[in-house]
Amino acid sequence: MFIDDAEGLVFRPPSEAYSFILRATIGCSHNTCTFCPMYKESRFRVRPLDEIDGIIERGAAAYPHIRRLFIADGDALVLRTDQLLHIIEKCYASFPALTRIGAYATPADLNRKTPEELKALHDAGLAILYMGIESGDDAVLTHVNKGTTAAATITAGQKALAAGFKLSAMILLGLGGQERTHEHALHTADVVSAINPTMLSALSLIIPPTVPLYEDVQRGTFTPLTAKGFIRELRELLAHTEMTRPCIFRSNHVSNLAPVGGNLPQDKEKMIQALDLMLPHMDDTTPLLGNIHNF
Ligand code: SF4
Repeated sequence: MFIDDAEGLVFRPPSEAYSFILRATIGCSHNTCTFCPMYKESRFRVRPLDEIDGIIERGAAAYPHIRRLFIADGDALVLRTDQLLHIIEKCYASFPALTRIGAYATPADLNRKTPEELKALHDAGLAILYMGIESGDDAVLTHVNKGTTAAATITAGQKALAAGFKLSAMILLGLGGQERTHEHALHTADVVSAINPTMLSALSLIIPPTVPLYEDVQRGTFTPLTAKGFIRELRELLAHTEMTRPCIFRSNHVSNLAPVGGNLPQDKEKMIQALDLMLPHMDDTTPLLGNIHNF
């Protein structure tokens, strides 16, 4: 829920479904990932603090029972630390039942902040960060213009965890296409293992005609995975993970063909067995632009 008249579409992680959405920024400061349709209609801007304060006050008056709050849009951690601290403190002072604040964070946002700044944000009550890893393969990251590398992503994730945050990381199945599915699976498994996030979600690539990656498909330079390819890639990725601390894994997003979930590392074999049962029944001939339910 939110009180807002700002332009553009609003996005939030599934686990923030009951949160108050506070749009401290509009859009995404990067906004050039070639697979991402999310903020293409929005021109990035930071809202003035007095405008944000007003939204918090009106939100608290309308929804005084709110227990969770999500600072949007795409990468709220791009804000200066003093601005974020002001917003976090104002939220806790205004919403009497508030217990948790979350935000999206890009690897670049996290790496721009010092460990001390991150610790101060965590201690003020910013409890959970959502970071899109997407891929751990540098060639894939470059191809989709993600603006980061595998090494920078690992540093960012480790910094977030060291500061005390819960870290929910997202990876994107199919992002290497048929051309780099193997490298995408192995290198992404390496990156998530090195970070060992609190939660890990595997989403599946959807390529609507509005994103630049669609043109690569039309040109024949990117071949989407088949249904079987998605399951095979998830299997290879899971098999290659080496988590040393508990990590809740989910691939039950609406974009996924096969809902699989469990706790890593202990449920790894069980999840692989479930995928092995599906594999013989999946089509391996038609490249998919996305799960049919999304069109
Ligand atoms: S994937 Fe994330 S960083 Fe990339 S454009 Fe979309 S919201 Fe911005």
